Amino acid sequence: MILILKKGVTEDQVEYVLKKIEQAGLKPHISKGADVTVIGCIGHEDAVKAFFEEAQALAGVDKAIRISKPYKLASKEIGKEKSIIKIGNVEIGGDKIAIIAGPCAVETLENITDIAENVKDAGAVILRGGAFKPRTSPYTFQGLGEEGLKFLGEARKRTGLLVVTEVMDPRDLDLVCRYADIIQVGARNMQNFRLLQEVGMVKKPVILKRGLCSTIQEFLMSAEYIMSNGNESVILCERGIRTYETSTRNTLDLSAIPVLKRLSHLPVIVDPSHAAGVWYYIESLSLAAIAAGADGLMIEVHPMPEKAYSDGAQSLKYDTFSKLIGKAKLVANAVNRNI
Ligand code: PEP
Ligand code: MN
Repeated sequence: MILILKKGVTEDQVEYVLKKIEQAGLKPHISKGADVTVIGCIGHEDAVKAFFEEAQALAGVDKAIRISKPYKLASKEIGKEKSIIKIGNVEIGGDKIAIIAGPCAVETLENITDIAENVKDAGAVILRGGAFKPRTSPYTFQGLGEEGLKFLGEARKRTGLLVVTEVMDPRDLDLVCRYADIIQVGARNMQNFRLLQEVGMVKKPVILKRGLCSTIQEFLMSAEYIMSNGNESVILCERGIRTYETSTRNTLDLSAIPVLKRLSHLPVIVDPSHAAGVWYYIESLSLAAIAAGADGLMIEVHPMPEKAYSDGAQSLKYDTFSKLIGKAKLVANAVNRNI
């Protein structure tokens, strides 16, 4: 439920409304606009229902409106049109499209620093690289763990790029937070609710990837798990979903971009690499994603894809990546954005 406060509401009245929300067992989320203040009341459905009549009658409250969607904080109905997430000197969700690039997995210090320098030169602002890898087979490379995080930290220091890396297990969260600027929750863990709750309690932005077979509503409910635990800096990432098509690893759901933008105020980025699974399609999908309104791209890059420890087939070489960014700038300009 949201409470729209009256114009000219006093500070005392706002305080009183906040107190009443808490007494009803709900959490208030206040957003002060230019002329109207809106307070979201978040909590158990029964508590919201019980509080509805009383809330409408409180001094200073103009009207109470139930949020119709099952996700509340992630919904535009909470009274937010667009969230811009600031991380260091990078903004995601504003006019500028954020380019995130790097290898699938952190391999060696030399490799990650070389990739960091090259993707930075091409226009990336955030370095990606997995240290804890969610591999389908337990007999393939699982990531370097803490050593990989240290290498990422070193690449960050040398280039000034921000770093995003995946956390798969709540037990690794503290460690990952020591090195990462942004936490990634991967597709396979999109509905690992305990992990989502834990990630909701840290003060780092989160890139939440859409599950392999998840609907948009399920995706937004997972964002809600993170947000309702206190962390509202969630960036949604469309990375392809499973369909009957086998020419590509997954099918990039381009429709998810305008749909998510219509339903939610959260930024939406696109990972064309895990969608395509084949490097050849990454450029087209990236350009299409920008045209459809994506706030960022996350792309796998490797200097020698044939030698990559994982996902070589979908990794771009430096020159291909750099050419893609050149074209992406033109598409961004065509839709009044920039890179
Ligand atoms: C990744 O980004 O490294 C990854 C494993 O992606 P996804 O979770 O989308 O499969
Ligand atoms: Mn990968």
